[in-house]
Order: sequence, then C-alpha cells, then structure tokens
Amino acid sequence: MKEIEIKHVYKHYPVGNKEKFTALTDINVCFKKGELVSIVGESGSGKSTLMNLIGGLDSQFEGDIFVEGENLRGKPDKMLDKYRKNKVGFVFQSFNLIPHLSILDNVTIALTLSNVSPEEKVEKATAILTRLGLENQLKRKPNQLSGGQKQRVAIARALINDPDIILADEPTGALDSGTSAQILEIMKEIADEGKLVIMVTHSEKIASVSSRVVEISDGKIIRDQKNKAYKKSKKINIPKIEKSQRSQNQRLSVRSAVRLAFHNMWASKTKNFLMAFGVAISIVALIIMLAFGSGLDQYIADVSQNFTNPNIVTIAKKGDDIIGAFLHDPFTKQEKQQLIEELNTALEENDYDYRVSEESLMPGFSSITGMGINLSFAFPDGTQFLPDEQGQPQTGITEVSYIYTTPPYYTDVNLIEGSMSGENEVMLTPAAYSIFKQLLGTEQVVGQKIILTVQMNGIDSPFTAEVTITGVVDTSVIQSVLAMYVDFDFLKSMATENGLDADSFPETTYYIDTDVETAAFLNDYIMSSAKYSGSIEEGLTTMFSEMSNTISIALTIIACISLVVSAIMILVVLYISVSERTKEIGVLKSIGARRKDIRLIFTSESFLVGLLSGIVGIILAVAIYGIFVAVLSGLLGFAPLSLKWYYFLIALGVSIAVSMLSGLYPSNKASKLDPVESLRHE
Ligand code: ADP
Ligand code: MG
Repeated sequence: MKEIEIKHVYKHYPVGNKEKFTALTDINVCFKKGELVSIVGESGSGKSTLMNLIGGLDSQFEGDIFVEGENLRGKPDKMLDKYRKNKVGFVFQSFNLIPHLSILDNVTIALTLSNVSPEEKVEKATAILTRLGLENQLKRKPNQLSGGQKQRVAIARALINDPDIILADEPTGALDSGTSAQILEIMKEIADEGKLVIMVTHSEKIASVSSRVVEISDGKIIRDQKNKAYKKSKKINIPKIEKSQRSQNQRLSVRSAVRLAFHNMWASKTKNFLMAFGVAISIVALIIMLAFGSGLDQYIADVSQNFTNPNIVTIAKKGDDIIGAFLHDPFTKQEKQQLIEELNTALEENDYDYRVSEESLMPGFSSITGMGINLSFAFPDGTQFLPDEQGQPQTGITEVSYIYTTPPYYTDVNLIEGSMSGENEVMLTPAAYSIFKQLLGTEQVVGQKIILTVQMNGIDSPFTAEVTITGVVDTSVIQSVLAMYVDFDFLKSMATENGLDADSFPETTYYIDTDVETAAFLNDYIMSSAKYSGSIEEGLTTMFSEMSNTISIALTIIACISLVVSAIMILVVLYISVSERTKEIGVLKSIGARRKDIRLIFTSESFLVGLLSGIVGIILAVAIYGIFVAVLSGLLGFAPLSLKWYYFLIALGVSIAVSMLSGLYPSNKASKLDPVESLRHE
C-alpha cells in the first residue's frame, strides 16, 4: 500500500518583492511502508524543501501530497499538528535537542504533548533509550553527550509516538563515518520493522545500502532507483513501541505546561530571579500602599471613637503651625463674645433651635512652658526638679511642660492606668509616666504625691499645690508629649488661691455639650472655619486624613509606575526568551505542538514569573512593613500601618495578572513562529 503519494507538487519561495523562486518542480513520487529511501542531490537542489512538505511543516505548495489517502494540501494547521504528532517523526542533522531538558525529558516531551501519564512516558522512553544504548545517560543534558549519542536521542524522540513515517534530513551529516554507520543501522532496522524511512544523505555509501535512492536536481526528480540487493536486517533491536492508550486527540495538560515552564525558568534562574525581584519591588509598593491606607483609616476611626464624643463640640483658636494644632492661644473676652454670636448666627440660618450662651461654653486650657505657663515639680520630701540657667531640665522632669485640662468627654475608656483626676489630682501622658517611673525608681507612680509649681506669663509669683497622680491617659497620638492633665476648675481654683484674678485666667478651649445633630452641625462649622479649630484629636485626625490621602496618592502613583515598568520588563525578558528559544519552538512544532501548546508553555512561564514575583514581593513587603512599624512607633509612638492577610492575595493576583498580561504578546509571537524558519534558526 502506498503510504505517501506525491502528485505534481510545486514549491515556490517568495524572493524580493514580486519574484519567486521555484524550489520544486512537478514532483511525482510514491513511498511505501518498509522502504528505506535515500534522497540524494546537490546542496540547494530542494531535498529539505521536499522533506518539510512531506512532514507537514510547510503547507504552502501546489499539487497534492496524499498520506494514507488524505491530502495534506489545504489541511488546517490543527490537522497538520496532529499529523506531525502522530504520523511522522523527524530527525535532524543538528540533532535539535532541547538543551535545558534531560535526555529522558527530551524524549518524553513528545508524549507530554499528548498528555500521556508520567509512568507510561518514562517507561516507554527508558525502554527505547536503553535499546539505543543510552540507559546510563537518562539524567544527563544533551551537551554532555557525543554526536552519535545525541542523534540516537533524537531518533528515540522521533520513535516514541510510534509514527508510520520517519523523516531524517541528513541525520549523519554531522557524524564521523563509524558513528554514521551505527545510525544508518538503526534507520535500517526502523524501516525493516515496517515503517517508511526517508533520509536525505550526501553519502554514496549510505545511499547504496538503502532500499531505494531518489535523486533530486534543481527541484526535479532525476533518478528513482530500487536496490535489488537490499537485505532486511536479521535481528531487530529497536523495540516495537505500542501506540499510547491515550486518545490521539489528547493534548498538553496545564500541569505539564507548568512543569515544562518551570524547567525552562530553572535553566536561566539568575535572570528569572532578578526579573522577579524587579517586579517584586512594585508589589512591595502596592502592599505598603494598602497597609498605609487602611492603617491610617483605622487610626482615624479609633481616634474619633475614643477621643471624641458626638455630643460635645470642641472649639479652639486655629494655630498657624503644627504646634498650633496641639496648643492654642487663649480667647479674649471679645473673641469669646464674637464666637458666641457667630455660632448663633450659623445655628439660626440653618434652622437649629439650640443657642450658645456664655454659660453653655465650658472652658478648658492647654499651654506650654514659655507660651504662657511654666511648670516645675518637686516631691514632698523637698527634692526639686527645676530647669538650670539655660532652661535645660536638670533631671528631665521639667520637660513635663505641657499642661492640659481634661476634656469633658474623657472617660475611663481613655485611661491606660488608674482613675480620672479631680481636685488636687493630676494625670500623666504615657511619656511623662515613664519619666516619673525613672525619677521615682518605682513602677508605683499612680498614688504618688508631687508638688506642682505653675508660673504663668504676666503673673509675678508662681503658684504651687501638692497633687496626687491618679492615672495615665491614653493620649492618642501625643503619647510622646510630656504633659499633665488637670481638672480645669482645680487649675483655676489653684490660681485664685494664689491671688490670681479668676476672670483673667486664660481660656484656650471651649466645649459645648448639646444633642448629636446640633453638635455635628457645629463641628462641621468649626472644622471648616478659617478662624477656629476643633480638639487636638480632631486636628490630628484632619491632619492624618490629609496625610493619608497624600501618602495614598503618592504610593498609588509609585505602585502604578513600578507596575508598568515591571510589565515592560517582563515583556522584554520574555520576548528575548522567545527569540533565544526559536529553535526549541521549531522542535516542539515538529513533534506536533500546536499553537495553543506553545502559547500555554509561555503563558505558564509568565504565570510562574508572576507567582515568584508575588511571593518575593510579599516577603520583602513583610520585612519593610516591620521596619516602617519600628521606625514610626519610635517617632510617633504609633504606626498607622496595618497588614491584612488578603493584601497578600491581592498582591499575588496583581503580580500574576500583570506578568500574564505582559506575557500575552511574547507567547502569541512564539505560537505563531513558522516551524521551518524556526528550525533553521541558529
Ligand atoms: P537542499 O536541502 O537540497 O540543500 P533546500 O530544500 O534547503 O535545499 O533549498 C532548495 C532551494 O530553495 C535553495 O536554492 C534555497 O536557497 C531555496 N530556499 C530554501 N528555503 C527558502 C526560503 N525560505 N526562502 C527562499 N528560498 C529558499
Ligand atoms: Mg537541506
């Protein structure tokens, strides 16, 4: 039976603009199973062109090529892929083994494309490699083998799918005569076992032992001669390969593609790791951005919940700098009246029933040494802690130089330790608390008595009082501020007792206690006013909201830019990788890889790049997060960052999505490479 029937085949190659070169002219020839055909002819006569047509690597020709009655011309690419996978095996002059795969994997890859089970693959490949004398080389890489060994691996690869046709284009062209004879013997056995072997050769010796010689000259067959003296081999060494149980429609599985991709990446691990590291930087930016975003939001939410009361409006004069957000100038009597009028006008215009009066304004006070008040402390045993001449604290104690009156909305919730203070009592900020611990040499600060000395601006003599420390206040962000909290009435009475006019006592803050709705309105009014600010906490939350927005925008921009840079980097690296591996792609196509399979392998690589980058990015981000938290905690007493587990999922998702998107173009290019050209690529 005719295995291959070639009728009136012409092949033209386009050259230049409109011209074409005719490489094959009216080829008519048939081949049968069991034949060992040598194709001879001068270089450039069209031998390889004919082989490529028979092998379904090139479908652009005129005429008909029937293989078992089916015409190759006009067959869709998919059918040709299947034909190459199941019907033909190629052997090339330059072996065309895939350098980064082991000998075993080079052979099994043809079965991998058919999704044959790993056990079956290894069993078959080992059997055939053993028969070809390569049982000790299975784990080696192609470059560790001699030419003859490489060609035997290539033959094993061509045979593994049990094809009916073996096409060998100058299989001995790169081998010495002794090795050539061995390869020829193998080819002969394959033919004698019943396959059709077509072999291009330059060697007259090889041609003379074939069963048939076809000579081509200038694209035409000029001789077709059977060898009557041809003798079949007595003993056939090549094992008969059973066609795999798998359906021949099976194709490369995602798992195998990922495994192949992993091998490919492992082969150039430094390059891939550096690339992943580059991409990881943008993933770090992304995670830190998310951590800052939610950390600041969480912080703001905590502060508004614990340090404000929806019923109480806090009003202070707006400071021009950051210090002004913490400490406020006192209101004059006139300014107080003006404030009342302004608020009432606003309330009236907006149909609120509530009116602010002098009595409804609860006064408060906050100040700092040199800005209206000097504080110093002593212990009842007479030990004094006073500033030296330069105003520098001798012991650190006079650094406790802020004094705040306790806002009316502070409750036990705001205490870290102890209880709220009343008359003759004070509370400390956490920073002041730790200094007192040092000074007193005891953890037992709460309950201690100290003598408080207050020197106010414009008042000659300082006033003093013996006070008891009752608690430590959680002061939101001002943990590191060395300050004391006292009751406003107590501070005022202390001043009065010391001969200060109570009416002239500076009032820096007012609180209004009203219903939630009115308070919300007044709060908005105060916060949007150019003259007034709210409580320290409100000032801080505003500041942090702005900071949060700025940081988020900045980090988003950084993350986006670095993601774009990463995407371009991946694209370039994969693109280069495709051109470096052009030949490998040609080999894969020759053993029946479909476009989809090639695309799947490269897409898997970009997936792995994304996965690796994501993981490296997450590890780096956790480390950098730790550094940020440590530094910010040291500086601010808190760190407005929070990592959530799902950020890692987002990061992985983004990283994989970005690299797979970037991989689309290179993968697509790889899949579309022309097999003949790829195989010729050096
Ligand atoms: P052989 O294998 O017999 O040495 P080929 O089949 O490779 O010869 O080439 C036959 C002729 O076709 C040569 O003249 C060669 O230059 C030409 N040829 C082969 N491939 C191409 C191509 N892709 N484009 C143009 N000309 C080609
Ligand atoms: Mg050739």
